[in-house]
Amino acid sequence: MTAGRALRIASHHLARIGEEARIALPRECCGLLLGRETIDGWQVTELVTSPNVAPADRHDRFEIDPQILIAVQKRLRREGGAMIGIYHSHPNGRATPSDTDLAQAWQIGKIWVIAALSADTPLSLGAFLRTDTAFAPVPVIAEGTG
Ligand SMILES: [Zn+2]
Repeated sequence: MTAGRALRIASHHLARIGEEARIALPRECCGLLLGRETIDGWQVTELVTSPNVAPADRHDRFEIDPQILIAVQKRLRREGGAMIGIYHSHPNGRATPSDTDLAQAWQIGKIWVIAALSADTPLSLGAFLRTDTAFAPVPVIAEGTG
């Protein structure tokens, strides 16, 4: 189902996710990906940053501020457009979904971008389509020069 489909995202958006991941250390950053689903995948047109409202002592959790989700949904209903996915970071340096991510039956059918960055590892990014039971890897196509 995802064969040949890719996530298209501007380089400056990728750079911003990396920067948010760095600033959030040792915690996770998080936010929303707005854009559209296309015949060959997904196109990100905008990032919406959210505070991570997970308990402050949890460094392996993220929780998007529900107020931001509501505000964005209202705006999209008014202006059009869609929320195509979410992003968050992994301070453990692994750009793959964690057991916690898998345990959350949440944002199914959406794209999850994971930015891995720790004090010891450089930034790496992964994108996945959240299906009912798994995360299917999706290639990322960075567009523009930043
Ligand atoms: Zn995660």
